[in-house]
Amino acid sequence: MHLPQEDEVDFVLFCQARGRLKKEKVAILTGDRVELSELNYPERTAVIVQHQERKTFIDRPPLANIDQVVIVQAVRQPDFNPLWMDRYLVHFQLSVPFTTPIICLNKCDLEDESGLLRLRSIYEPLGYFVIFASATTGVGLEELARCLAGKVSMFSGPSGVGKSSLLNRLSPGLDIKVGRMENSFGVGRHTTTYSELYRLNLDSYLPPAAAVDAAGAKGDQSLEVAQERQFSWVADTPGFNVMEFMQSDPREVARQFPEICDLGQYCKFADCLHLVEAGCAVLASLEGEMPELEAAEGEDTVEFMPLVESRYVSYCTMVAEAQEMEAAAKTVSSKKESNVKTVGSDNKAKAKVIPRLAGKYRAAARNTEKQRIPRVEDFDDVGEAET
Ligand code: GDP
Ligand code: ZN
Repeated sequence: MHLPQEDEVDFVLFCQARGRLKKEKVAILTGDRVELSELNYPERTAVIVQHQERKTFIDRPPLANIDQVVIVQAVRQPDFNPLWMDRYLVHFQLSVPFTTPIICLNKCDLEDESGLLRLRSIYEPLGYFVIFASATTGVGLEELARCLAGKVSMFSGPSGVGKSSLLNRLSPGLDIKVGRMENSFGVGRHTTTYSELYRLNLDSYLPPAAAVDAAGAKGDQSLEVAQERQFSWVADTPGFNVMEFMQSDPREVARQFPEICDLGQYCKFADCLHLVEAGCAVLASLEGEMPELEAAEGEDTVEFMPLVESRYVSYCTMVAEAQEMEAAAKTVSSKKESNVKTVGSDNKAKAKVIPRLAGKYRAAARNTEKQRIPRVEDFDDVGEAET
């Protein structure tokens, strides 16, 4: 076994959190930078005394200090599913608002050029960076390596799309088990509650100097910064089931579709949800009836981001779900009101007692809300037909 030396900095230690941290319920998360004490080199153990201030934090899955999210989907096997792509985009735009998700479409070896172009034409005009890759042929891996260089990234996507295969091919020696999440139980398998960070060695796709370059290290930065930027980390995270994607505010969903927001400025009513409303510019544009709008000075026409039908279908589905969530939440709270009891035995001293919602009750209410949403099985992230 390789024993680390006192001056070595790159090795694995088995750490326990100091008792005080446990008592104070300070959780140490994947991605945290920590201060150690009681380093025992031969035993490879140490005690975590504190974590440093987190640059970023996301709570599902719990991860500290990630720089970006890469949404991985397959173009075939399983077939590309626009609704699931859009669910991931909306989810991460909301839960990781400090960065725009990057889209990585894998298994490009299984799709023809025109199919790939069609996918590119949906997402690139909306401002998403799209990488076409194949873990089998190696296509796109240099571009992916460039995008991961020097950063802490989170890979997210349904199981079976090739996340592990991509990481293994990018960084030989990682040996993540391929196909480890495949079974016949659909989304039920997404039960992992923690993520692991893998350190990538991107040398086969990006020579170290190019990696530093790609990570944006400038000549005036210290060697230390440049070296740190050579390290690239990826958290491979568990997939999501449909309930985790549910939003409870239809307007919040509307804000996450850039092309719909863009057109929405021209709807007659400011609170238009673009479903059935009169004077809706989004519906008009879908019908090809966009009214002529006055162009800004110096420009010939008003340019809009293209609204593709599949995106509008995703939008309607997600808004409908959010409306159901909203309605279910209202039903639950009106039930609580009808639970208000009149107490007091004689006529004079009657008072209303409003039951306080214990945490337990709140959790139960939330579960009821969830159970009210029908047809969950229709939205399995692998079984759904292409729209
Ligand atoms: P994960 O669940 O997202 O980590 O996916 P895996 O990496 O376990 O891959 C699932 C299956 O897809 C495996 O059988 C892989 O061999 C296969 N696969 C992964 N990437 C590609 C690819 O680019 N092209 C093709 N044809 N198959 C791939
Ligand atoms: Zn509208």
